[in-house]
This record gives sequence, C-alpha cells and structure tokens, in this order.
Amino acid sequence: MRTWSIPLRTRFRGITHREGVLLRGDAGWGEWSPFLEYDAAVAEPWLRCAEESAHGDLPALVRDRVPVNVTVPATDPARAQAIVAGGGCRTAKVKVAEPGQALADDIARVEAVRDALGPDGLIRVDANGAWSVDEAVAAIRELDRAAGGLEYVEQPCASVEDLARVRRRVEVAIAADESIRRAADPYRVRDLDAADIAVLKVQPLGGVRACLRIAEDIGLPVVVSSAIETSVGIATGLALAAALPELPHACGLATVQMLRDDVVAEPLLPVDGMLPVGRPTVLDEALDRVQAPPDRVAHWAARRAEVEAWRAARQDLHP
Ligand SMILES: [Mg+2]
Repeated sequence: MRTWSIPLRTRFRGITHREGVLLRGDAGWGEWSPFLEYDAAVAEPWLRCAEESAHGDLPALVRDRVPVNVTVPATDPARAQAIVAGGGCRTAKVKVAEPGQALADDIARVEAVRDALGPDGLIRVDANGAWSVDEAVAAIRELDRAAGGLEYVEQPCASVEDLARVRRRVEVAIAADESIRRAADPYRVRDLDAADIAVLKVQPLGGVRACLRIAEDIGLPVVVSSAIETSVGIATGLALAAALPELPHACGLATVQMLRDDVVAEPLLPVDGMLPVGRPTVLDEALDRVQAPPDRVAHWAARRAEVEAWRAARQDLHP
C-alpha cells in the first residue's frame, strides 16, 4: 500500500491537495481515494473498487478507446474558451450555477464554449443540484438557447423529486449524478422517471461490476465520470466505460490534468477526444515523488483499519 499526496492545479471543494492510497494485488494496482470528510460507511465502497481493480476481477471489454469531455469550471469566458481550445475534445462539460455568480455569467461562459467548439461540438452543463425547480426551468431554457442546443443538463436540482419535476417541464435531457451516487436508493431515479442519463463513478459506487449492475437495473444510458483520481483510478473508470454494452455519450474521465503530478509512465490525457483502455504502468520513481508525509501515511492506514472494522461489525450484524 502506497499513500500519495498531489497538489491540485486549482482549489477544489476547499482542498489544495488530493490524497489517496494505491493498493497492490495480484493483477496490479487499485486506487482508494475517498475524500477526507467521508466516514467509514461512505469510504467502504471506494475500497471495494480498489480491491476489485488490484485483484483484476474485471469484466470483458467491448471497446479499446473511450470518448471523453473537457471540463470547464465556473470561470470567465476567455479562460473557458482557452480550456476548450486546449482540451482536444469534441464535447465540453460546463459548470454552472456557482454560488456568487449570476445566470448571465453562465450564459456568457456557454456562449464562449460554443465559439471555441464550433457548431458540431456537444455542450452539457452541470449545476451540481444548485437550482430550485423554477430556477432550473428558466436557466435551462436560456442556456439551451445560448449553447445552440444542450446535450443534457446534469443534476439541475438536489432532490430526485425535483429532478423529475424539472424533467417534465423542459425539452433538454436530464442526467442524474449526485441523485445516484449519494442516494440511499439509486433506483429512485428510475422509479420516478427523474432522468434520461445516469452518471456513474466507479469508486463511490463500489467498483466496475457494481456499476454494471446498476447500469443494467436502472436501464438508462451511462456517462462514466471521475472523482479526481490519478491515472490508476481513471483506468478503472475506463474499464467500466469499455465494458458497457452501449456508450452513446462522452465520459467525464479527462481529469488527470487537474492534478500537478501522476503515478504512471503515461498519464491518461485525451488524444483526439479519446482515452485508451488498459492498465497504466505505475512507476516506482513516481510513487516516491508523490509519497505523502509520514503523518498522512499514518492517517490513511488508520482510515483503512476503520473501514475494515466497519465491515467486520456489519458482518456480525448480517452474517
Ligand atoms: Mg456532476
């Protein structure tokens, strides 16, 4: 087990460094990098994902390359344009509804992204649940116009019920992210007809096989997305994207450039809007370079022990 700490290029969720652990099994490495505030119960499926990957118990692949989107943070139009131009992708995901910003800021950003992409590119927006139903309906109409057509809107409102309400009032497709990943019951999205697309992340949902099961049961097209991981974690997301029977949308897996360093020989950066599927080669010198300080190594060892204890306690309750 190796503990890493890598600076982020831009502050994200109030953190300046991303931390995690790489586990080594008979098939290679698996990444365990739950965010620091998560308790043992929330961090447990993330560990299952790392174990699955390290033991190599992955399903058959039906594609060897995966189309990906460039992600545009809630930034000004000029920077948004530069990110898209340098991103090498035909699909852009634009963050909107940032606290402290107005709808006019989102509109200007989306217009700039359309400019940079040209008429053939696809634009999706992600509100991270920030809008009320009425705000969402109004904003989606304006942003759809500014984009010259949106591919979809991700998580316009926080609750599944509100997602369903918005979906009945707009033409643009709705994608559910937090409503699946953070939900006690991910199938409420299906039961309430609340979305057209499911965003799945391998670590929070317990691994590739668990995600394939959810995808099958939920019956919606899937967009595989990352949790800001090293190329080892991204490769696990790519394994899911490559195993899905259908993949009609670009995935949100082009995120290693958000980290200032990586642990592999060839970081998973998109070429012509695509990422290659396969196990990346982890380099010992890279692991040494990103090695976390001793107090953080101890923290992650204690955290893993806590998750193992949580599992053991559950087994006693439900043998
Ligand atoms: Mg999202």
